[in-house]
Amino acid sequence: MTKGDPPDDRSAPLDARERVQLCQRFEELGPDAPTLCEGWTTFDLAAHLALRERNVLAGPGILLGDAVAPLGRLTDRLLAKEKERGYDRVVERVRTGPPFGPFAIPGLRTQINLVEYAVHHEDVRRANGMSPRSGVDDLQDALWPLFTRLARFVLRGVPDGVEVRLARPGGDEKVARSGDLPSPVFPPSGCRFRTRCPYASPRCVEEEPQLRPVVGADGTEHVVACHHPLVEAADVPVQLTAPAPA
Ligand code: SF4
Repeated sequence: MTKGDPPDDRSAPLDARERVQLCQRFEELGPDAPTLCEGWTTFDLAAHLALRERNVLAGPGILLGDAVAPLGRLTDRLLAKEKERGYDRVVERVRTGPPFGPFAIPGLRTQINLVEYAVHHEDVRRANGMSPRSGVDDLQDALWPLFTRLARFVLRGVPDGVEVRLARPGGDEKVARSGDLPSPVFPPSGCRFRTRCPYASPRCVEEEPQLRPVVGADGTEHVVACHHPLVEAADVPVQLTAPAPA
């Protein structure tokens, strides 16, 4: 926790902690503070969070509003209606959460809310000059695999060749790549990894790579099934060393 952060209850589920802290930020900053959600103030963001959990009609527009204009317009109208309650009441509705429904079920609620609340908490913190939090290793540990999966999901519809590098304090890194996951039932032609490989070439589409021995720059022997291995291919095939009999 960084100096100035509201106290948090370490025994509470992570999504509940994020919810409490975000609402305290809303109260500190008031309705007109910026957020990292483009075009949204703290009031807009609080109304979005209240609506998302409490009005099933808003869900399709929140998910698909950019692609399906009527859904987006409906959600905009519901958002404006939510804001008619006034900022304090809307923040209170975020703080208490809905009385029933999937967003009220412990466990399930954490699964569907943790990323939402952690990301929007940071949207508010960072837009208002607050420094990165410390002492939240449990939150980082919980979010790391979720963000990794989310990055792959977001990149599904992006043309091949785009990479997103995820890094976390402490040095862990992962790279999510665009392109379809190869189907194990109907693998792609040529190399079965080519839909997600940043080094894929036309040859990789046409020709399935066969296992072959290569020698790395340091003289180490490798076996690869790749047309463009990152180790240097030997000029002549090498004889791999057979394991000594037991
Ligand atoms: S053959 Fe090698 S370079 Fe080509 S797609 Fe497969 S893994 Fe990538």
